[in-house]
Amino acid sequence: MYYDALVTGAGPGGCMAARSLRGAGFKVALVEKERLPREKPCGGFVSPQAAALIEEAFGPIPPSCLAQPHTVVGARLLCEGGGDYELPFPEPGFSVVRSRLDAHLAASCGADVLDGCEVVDLDVERFHVRAHVTRGEEEEEELEATYLVAADGAESVALRLLRPEFHRLYAAPRLERTMLVLSEGDMEWDPRWTGIALMRGGGGIARFFVKDGLIGLAVNHGPEKEWREGLDSLAAMLRHRAGLRLRGEAIRRASASNRMAAGGHYSLGAGCALLAGEAAGLLDPWGFGIRLALESGRVAAESIRESAGERITPHIRYRYRMQDLLERELRQRRDFTAGVGDLDVSSLAGDRSRAARRDRRALKRRFYK
Ligand SMILES: Cc1cc2nc3c(=O)[nH]c(=O)nc-3n(C[C@H](O)[C@H](O)[C@H](O)COP(=O)(O)OP(=O)(O)OC[C@H]3O[C@@H](n4cnc5c(N)ncnc54)[C@H](O)[C@@H]3O)c2cc1C
Repeated sequence: MYYDALVTGAGPGGCMAARSLRGAGFKVALVEKERLPREKPCGGFVSPQAAALIEEAFGPIPPSCLAQPHTVVGARLLCEGGGDYELPFPEPGFSVVRSRLDAHLAASCGADVLDGCEVVDLDVERFHVRAHVTRGEEEEEELEATYLVAADGAESVALRLLRPEFHRLYAAPRLERTMLVLSEGDMEWDPRWTGIALMRGGGGIARFFVKDGLIGLAVNHGPEKEWREGLDSLAAMLRHRAGLRLRGEAIRRASASNRMAAGGHYSLGAGCALLAGEAAGLLDPWGFGIRLALESGRVAAESIRESAGERITPHIRYRYRMQDLLERELRQRRDFTAGVGDLDVSSLAGDRSRAARRDRRALKRRFYK
């Protein structure tokens, strides 16, 4: 089957790219390896900037995709050394159930949605892409298109195949495993704030939240490090600081995050094959990536639309259009003044106490590690 554009990955980045290309009359296939709705281990906190991007392209987020409580006001940062800071969003955002939101975005993007269809290989020429895909036990098939937007997430197959050297040097070493554990329990915590914990001893940033009657604890770990150790430290800190008590069976969800942005590395693809979202390395220092995925998916699609019919490949325009966004991300990591990602860090940045200076130093070490 021949398409104008193939989009791989039905997360926010891929759905946004597919929607924007369909809106311009392109024939698009959205290729997703899992059956939809699929689980995506995620806090599901959608900043107001991300919510505005969704609303502009798809309309308001339907109530069926929202979690309880559905309003989020920002993040509370608890530092293991004692600091406690409120980092608000400029206005309230939303708490969503990722499986439902992503399925809704895929169903409304207007593309041919090929779920349960995994991209296993890619041949990319100047204006031609051939994707080799498999569906379960069936034989490998080929999908062809003029353009590709690969938004296939933290462990992007497209990045590995299109830029093997870059992948080996920058992406693979920065791939971080995450374990999200969801349990019933009690905690003295306003659920409209998502929690970020800055752990001592190289533990880095851990995340926690209360939604839909469950407590979620997410810890990062390298391939060689046991996640349980990080989870025990986080739970001990929350027992002490927020009266955490866990009950009943826990649900575990393993995932990965691509932290190559912490080293200042991004890859936007090449030629007619563009990378968006976490596949490109777009993840903010707190580990939030929904807004960046939506924004880059939209810019990738617009770059293809604007260069269609021209002799230059869309990658040139995409790089140019993404420059401001990438510079802003890098500047925020460096300067650490008013905002980092979508969060207002002025309470932390403005605190002159010795403890706050120590917390800022620990965060910067984490951002650049
Ligand atoms: C524990 C945790 C909590 C988080 N909490 C938040 C949060 O609260 N707010 C926030 O903004 N961000 C959060 N993030 C980050 C956020 O989940 C990601 O940055 C975001 O989902 C990236 O979107 P994406 O579209 O780039 O990729 P994804 O959403 O990861 O989607 C990629 C898709 O590609 C598919 N795919 C992969 N390989 C192939 C293939 N070979 N062929 C076809 N399809 C393929 C995958 O199945 C997946 O559906 C969290 C991450 C983790 C791990």
